[in-house]
Amino acid sequence: MTPEDLLVEADRCVKCGLCLTVCPTYRLLASEADSPRGRISLIQALAKNELDIHSHAEQHLDRCLNCRACESACPSGVKYGSLLDASRSSMTSEHRTKPLLKRLLHQLSRSGRLNFWIRLYHIIRQSGLLALARKLPAPRFKQLLAMADQLPRTPVDRAGFYPSTKPTGKKVQLFTGCIGSKVDDNLVQSAIRLLSGLGYAVDIPPGTGCCGAMHRHNGFFREAEQQCDAIRTQTAKSSAQYLITLATACHLELAEQQVSRLPLVSISDFLLQLPDREMPELAPMPIRAALHRPCSSRDSSDWQILNKIPQLELVELAENELCCGAAGSYLLTQPEISNQLGEIKLAHLKASGAKILITASTGCAMQFRQQIRQAGLSIEVQHPIELIYKQWRSAGMGTQ
Ligand code: SF4
Ligand code: SF4
Repeated sequence: MTPEDLLVEADRCVKCGLCLTVCPTYRLLASEADSPRGRISLIQALAKNELDIHSHAEQHLDRCLNCRACESACPSGVKYGSLLDASRSSMTSEHRTKPLLKRLLHQLSRSGRLNFWIRLYHIIRQSGLLALARKLPAPRFKQLLAMADQLPRTPVDRAGFYPSTKPTGKKVQLFTGCIGSKVDDNLVQSAIRLLSGLGYAVDIPPGTGCCGAMHRHNGFFREAEQQCDAIRTQTAKSSAQYLITLATACHLELAEQQVSRLPLVSISDFLLQLPDREMPELAPMPIRAALHRPCSSRDSSDWQILNKIPQLELVELAENELCCGAAGSYLLTQPEISNQLGEIKLAHLKASGAKILITASTGCAMQFRQQIRQAGLSIEVQHPIELIYKQWRSAGMGTQ
């Protein structure tokens, strides 16, 4: 988006304020500058050079979760998410020194480097230095370490080709994500085994693990485009029928940037569109589970696919329209606000009486796991497909 386009889009905001009540940061901070309307005014002032980039404006823009609840509420159809990304990009390119944490996150999500960082983290951890570091009075650093505890001891790379267990000749490409493919390896394995067991060979091309969202939302547009180009190339030369996504945020990014040259589909939607004879047979699960809907996807496909599990008592988590505070890297860059939102969600989860929290978002899952651990609760956090695969195996269908 050029600066001119940005101003044209921002001028569509008529300052009616109808978006204020749905904005999580306005709810918590009660300040106009932390509302969608106030942020649009700041973006306009920055674009017109009426405000200095080092003014308070950056702080208020950084506090935005990019949850886009305001977009859904806006009668004028202002594309708030695009405005925010464009404004952040121009701020990042104008800064001589990019913020350290943003640069670190940018490095973490680069293809092929995550395994190195995970190994380094565990070496430092074993040295005892982390125990000392945890005592530092730095909330962002503490949050980073708390989230890093969810990383696997031994990082794996599931890139490769997994043949179908049936001679159907069908093939799909699986998009596993960058951070998600590490912290949710059980999900990746469940998806591979389920798909190959249902008759679909699974291809996970190397070097395409990141969708670019982390880069784009932190203002690194060039790197985001590089990731998109890698996926365009891989999907253009693939003979697969679909590109299947596991995490909602990756799916949204790939869809909005029109990256895939293959038909793009979430794994829940893929299963829902299978003919009845191909649908996996599932064992009953007499347990209460709460579904959390991420900001990146509020459609009903997860609800529909989970309802295929006999006896599962599925409930909506209260205030499902409210962001949980994960919001990509937000849980690291704004730990105080992120924790406040996480605590609201945890209270709703406790009140639901659910034994399992289900979400198809990697970031939301990490946020819930952290909140649950801090509170000393024993509630599992699972992706819908982990449950589907588990019940498929329990029904004696999945044998791997
Ligand atoms: S973003 Fe939309 S809802 Fe919010 S103040 Fe502007 S026009 Fe009104
Ligand atoms: S994206 Fe979310 S946090 Fe940001 S202004 Fe809109 S509603 Fe508020």
